[in-house]
Amino acid sequence: MRLWRQPERRGAWIQAKLKILLTILSVPMDSETIRQLFSRLQTLRPHPTTELRYRSPFELLIAVMLSAQSTDKKVNEATERLFQAANTPKALLALGQVSLKHYIKSIGLYNTKAINIINTCTLLLQRHNGDVPRDRASLEALPGVGRKTANVILNTAFGEPTIAVDTHIFRVANRTGLAPGKTVRDVEEALLAATPDQFKQDAHHWLILHGRYRCTARNPRCADCPIHDLCDYPAKREGN
Ligand code: SF4
Repeated sequence: MRLWRQPERRGAWIQAKLKILLTILSVPMDSETIRQLFSRLQTLRPHPTTELRYRSPFELLIAVMLSAQSTDKKVNEATERLFQAANTPKALLALGQVSLKHYIKSIGLYNTKAINIINTCTLLLQRHNGDVPRDRASLEALPGVGRKTANVILNTAFGEPTIAVDTHIFRVANRTGLAPGKTVRDVEEALLAATPDQFKQDAHHWLILHGRYRCTARNPRCADCPIHDLCDYPAKREGN
């Protein structure tokens, strides 16, 4: 007999169908569930931050520029030596492109990144007295700096409530139903609209760390996930 014809199992059947329907319609979470989700992530990591090592906005900018399609670990290994040799726009220009490449050659796309870093240093000196600007337009005008990098700098170096969407955050936002979207920009806007103000400053780091270590692309660790009961992912695992 079909499930929906069995009275004792009809409730479960309706629930399952509703869940599929909500997923198809990409209905985001309700506000109380979102508040709970961030509360739990906050309890686990009260003071989340980037895993990139930096001591100034300029060092963070260079580290984030290097981190595209690379791991934070690899970037930290390279910048540890690089920043000892040069950690200001002036010093990096004096170091020169050839020497810069030597320090970052273990990182993917290092040729292009070296060119962008040198050109960025030139612009920082020409337009901003060697400082990293605190506004989005000026940041995005720097070579190799897109919206995501600008969001990270504004959030992590300057404490602005921006949310940079990378591959981890894109996945978590869509899987959980927190802020579904087809594009990175859609997800960023949905996250900004859905995240309560009190959590906006740290949302980027909570979500990125959750995606990197728990809600991984291939084998999400659903069984010991702190937001398991709040997550709408139809394929979430119960006991892996
Ligand atoms: S339950 Fe699984 S899919 Fe949902 S957020 Fe947790 S790890 Fe990700």
